[in-house]
Amino acid sequence: MEERDLKISIAHLYPELLNLYGDIGNIIALKKRCEWRGIEVEFTEIHSGDDIKEHDIYFIGGGQDKQQEEVAEELFTHKWFFHGQRDKGAVFLGICGGYQLFGHYYQPHDKEKLKGISLLDAYTVAGDTRFIGNVTAETDFLTPETLVGFENHSGLTYLQGDTTPLATVTTGNGNNGEDKTEGARYKNVFGTYLHGSFLPKNPQFTDYLIELAIEKRYGEHIPLKLLDDKLETAAHNSLINKPY
Ligand code: GLN
Repeated sequence: MEERDLKISIAHLYPELLNLYGDIGNIIALKKRCEWRGIEVEFTEIHSGDDIKEHDIYFIGGGQDKQQEEVAEELFTHKWFFHGQRDKGAVFLGICGGYQLFGHYYQPHDKEKLKGISLLDAYTVAGDTRFIGNVTAETDFLTPETLVGFENHSGLTYLQGDTTPLATVTTGNGNNGEDKTEGARYKNVFGTYLHGSFLPKNPQFTDYLIELAIEKRYGEHIPLKLLDDKLETAAHNSLINKPY
């Protein structure tokens, strides 16, 4: 199939609540990298109270504890729907606070534990230090291997079972500042602490997610044509192993 014959659907979950530090840039990157190739994008914003239908990519951004509280309850009502979507190969990307809600729970300081939707076998507890700064982490499945971004979180995330790290931290803290892991993956569910926003500075990962979404929709792997990523690569390289 030609790229111009392809279409994917993207849902942005609760943008009015979880959209910290320019996380909307991740949606822009996904849309633009499809548009530049002639791939049609059907885009939907999901707000509190909305029904959710099948999509190829679900995105959720980060937020302060208060916004996470508002989203957690609503997200939980769709838990089993999302499990079904995950098991059909749908792509999920959660950033920071949204990522934390992909696990079993997020335990803030001195507040009720927030139930997560357990798309990832992971849990998060509030730490005593706020991790703020640039992060560089190395993957074992992308070219270039590096992922770069900006972290600002006090939550400490720990991975279990078949949920694997997205990458290994070389600069910064990542999931918990202890085990050198950054982010998480199970099936096509991805979480990361990298804001910045994340995808515009990591074009190779953006394309990887789009290819997974196409494979889920059409049942075949269709490698995307390369784009001129001079600007994206310059932005990416400007952050590698630079803590501030
Ligand atoms: N409130 C969460 C924390 O501090 C998530 C913050 C965020 O999304 N940047 O860990």
